[in-house]
Amino acid sequence: MENIYLDNAATTKIDPEVIEAMKPYLLAEYANPSSTYTFAGQIHGKVDDARKTIADFIKAKESEIYFTSGGSESDNWAIKGVADALSAKGKHIITTKIEHHAVLHTCEFLEKHGYEVTYLEVDEYGLVDVKKFEEAIRPDTILASIMFANNEIGTIEPIAELGRIAHEHGVVFHTDAVQAFGHIRIDVNAMNIDLLSASAHKLNGPKGVGLLYIKSGLKITNLIHGGAQERGRRAGTTNAAGIIGFGKAVELADSRLEATNAYETKLRDKLIARVTSEIPYVRFNGHPEKRLSNNTNFCFRFIEGESLLILLDQDHICASSGSACTSGALDPSHVLLAIGLPHEIAHGSIRFTLSAETKEEDIDYTVDALKKIVERLRSMSPLYEDFVKKQAQ
Ligand SMILES: *Cc1c(COP(=O)(O)O)cnc(C)c1O
Repeated sequence: MENIYLDNAATTKIDPEVIEAMKPYLLAEYANPSSTYTFAGQIHGKVDDARKTIADFIKAKESEIYFTSGGSESDNWAIKGVADALSAKGKHIITTKIEHHAVLHTCEFLEKHGYEVTYLEVDEYGLVDVKKFEEAIRPDTILASIMFANNEIGTIEPIAELGRIAHEHGVVFHTDAVQAFGHIRIDVNAMNIDLLSASAHKLNGPKGVGLLYIKSGLKITNLIHGGAQERGRRAGTTNAAGIIGFGKAVELADSRLEATNAYETKLRDKLIARVTSEIPYVRFNGHPEKRLSNNTNFCFRFIEGESLLILLDQDHICASSGSACTSGALDPSHVLLAIGLPHEIAHGSIRFTLSAETKEEDIDYTVDALKKIVERLRSMSPLYEDFVKKQAQ
């Protein structure tokens, strides 16, 4: 049986058209684009075409796009680079409790090196409060890093407004847009964004290539030192095939964006409606409207997300639980704790993230399987047994 892949927030399937676009640069056109002979120049030109396609997509200039190895590197560069470049002005950074670990762990690293970080709380839907953000800004605040859309619960943040407030106070504004890029139309100038991270493999492009948008004139220290690639700002032999594939993925995402969103929203809402009406004691997580078109996240009371995942896998359904296995113990998702869920409920979480290839039958098959699995796990759960006994009293 074929897998039902509902983990598109983790990574996506590479589009066959992307592979075709990349092929020549993995085969005959293998020269290092930085070399001076004609054989290399043609490839350099194609890399710049991709840069133009991607810049246009977020209304940036080509000279503001820097290719990296992915979202994690871009987040590291944005945060460490600004922290270093502006350390004479201040050492305070603002972020949120629901960021991806690429942002959170980078901030924790900086805390060990003399920086102070404020981790903003979010509301029950995962939204950052614009007022609370403004209140957190201090004279020594140099940078704010707030994600565009959350990877676990899909909530979309009020980025343009947050960016406006950051700028009113002279604070540099970075957004991790890895989940939003390719799904939401972004205009970096209208949205007051100084730095933006994106990654190709989250929008049907290849793994291992991403970008950092850096607004022209912004002060930022390099992260990867070495050769003079990317106008002297990011060393390492140009990943020509990866970048050209990224360009193709953006071109395709751009042409299909509204159609894909409409299609995914329909299936997403069906999945939410069926799960919340047909399975008892389930909590739907994230914002009902301000959410990514392909994201659903639920907590099933009295059971563990990890056990659910194992049984879903036996039915060939690929999903994700928010739990992170750190030092052998299963920690509930930091995002679900931040929206106020108690540990025992956060433990029972599952995320299903759809794609344009998800079919309505996949949704029905998944809900049918889920109903049986939840029932089975609850029948073995002492917590559930206690609960039923108490209900009966
Ligand atoms: C996947 C993801 C990243 C990491 O991107 P990579 O390209 O895999 O390094 C960062 N932030 C968010 C929100 C993500 O979803």
